[in-house]
Amino acid sequence: MSDCIFCKIIDGELPSAKVYEDENVYAFMDIGQVTEGHVLLIPKKHYENIYEMDEKTASELFKVAPKIANGIKEAFNPKGMNLVNNNGSFADQSVFHFHLHFLPRFDENDGLKVSWEQHSDDYTPEKLQQLAEKISSAL
Ligand code: 5GP
Ligand code: ZN
Repeated sequence: MSDCIFCKIIDGELPSAKVYEDENVYAFMDIGQVTEGHVLLIPKKHYENIYEMDEKTASELFKVAPKIANGIKEAFNPKGMNLVNNNGSFADQSVFHFHLHFLPRFDENDGLKVSWEQHSDDYTPEKLQQLAEKISSAL
């Protein structure tokens, strides 16, 4: 896609610090480095988000995820790692070419907060079953 910065990075029109590349995917250092070692993994085919991505591209991309995660783990020895993917601006997506963030975690003050409230009291097993059926019937 001509005006996509990640497509331009793949094509070499924009510079990037490459971590890994094969015929289907490209991994590079996030310019924003939330934590040291923050990597983005992207498909070479332009897909705006997870909803659009075909199964073949998804399998090619996620196949590489353990290799990237283990490379970061080996290089930086983090205490943990979050894999994050944002879809849609409401969910904080700012670049509209699918990407998976690899965020090594070092300590509680490393600048990354992944937290949410759970509402298990509001959801009986019957309600969960209803929700599951709503999704599975849409697959
Ligand atoms: P999002 O907010 O869409 O989940 O993440 C987009 C990410 O792309 C951000 O973390 C941002 O720092 C990164 N980013 C945006 N522009 C560039 C760029 O030109 N080069 C690199 N390496 N990363 C970028
Ligand atoms: Zn793109």
